[in-house]
Amino acid sequence: MRIDLLTLFPDMCEAVMGESIIGRARQKGALTVCCHQIRDYTLNKQKQVDDYPYGGGLGMVLFPQPIADCFRAVCEEIGERPHFVYMSPQGAVLTQAKAKELAKLPNLCILCGHYEGVDERVIEALVDEQISIGDYVLTGGELPALVLADCVARLTPGVLSEEECFTEESHYSGLLEYPQYTRPAVWEGREVPEILLSGHHENIRRWRREQALRRTFLHRPDMLEKAELTEKEQALIAAWQAEFGEDDNINLHKSNQ
Ligand code: SAH
Repeated sequence: MRIDLLTLFPDMCEAVMGESIIGRARQKGALTVCCHQIRDYTLNKQKQVDDYPYGGGLGMVLFPQPIADCFRAVCEEIGERPHFVYMSPQGAVLTQAKAKELAKLPNLCILCGHYEGVDERVIEALVDEQISIGDYVLTGGELPALVLADCVARLTPGVLSEEECFTEESHYSGLLEYPQYTRPAVWEGREVPEILLSGHHENIRRWRREQALRRTFLHRPDMLEKAELTEKEQALIAAWQAEFGEDDNINLHKSNQ
């Protein structure tokens, strides 16, 4: 997969995308990431990228032209038009399902806004989709774009090794993940659950599934409404609901397993 980031701060993006798992994936060729400086595409001598908003108001708005030319240069470089996302607090909030969908694409181009945002016309003319990382406002689109790029990149084949596999993780399976432990077996008097030391794989698998269900029940009961649950699991949750005195029972998704 190839990800292109259009930004006024390419060094900031490069620094994050050059480290750790993503950095290694790029080195071994499982992923291509290119950070483009929007300012390089200005046509004025001062390399100005923004101006005051028409109609008045505070802050600066990015010009449409450098963004459009930067995007068109990326299209030309790739040889086709990538899916174009603008990071914006006005977009749909990013979910694991959206990341999974985007990870299937061969090319993804992400625009980072800054200051007050970007001229609406460039969004209308070129952007396929706006994505937010949550209901709060940041100073720029770099951190949101890096969140999206990281989340999508780690789902791309070859980016995570088998040990780092994502299929059991929180949100991927529709549940939060079970608790994890490593050495030492006793730390400051706290023991690792005995079952994890038993070596009995089937019992461990069952324990982990139950833990995942319990965590989801306690922290994110809304997620259980969409999760695939067996009849036994539904009974277990009903028992917890009775135990915790929940009045409004969660509307569980019935699975035929
Ligand atoms: N005036 C705009 C906010 C601009 S914030 C408005 O009210 O909608 C400046 C830039 O930061 C935006 O262009 C966007 O790219 C980025 N940004 C800020 N918060 C964000 C969020 N929650 N999700 C995604 N991008 C965000």
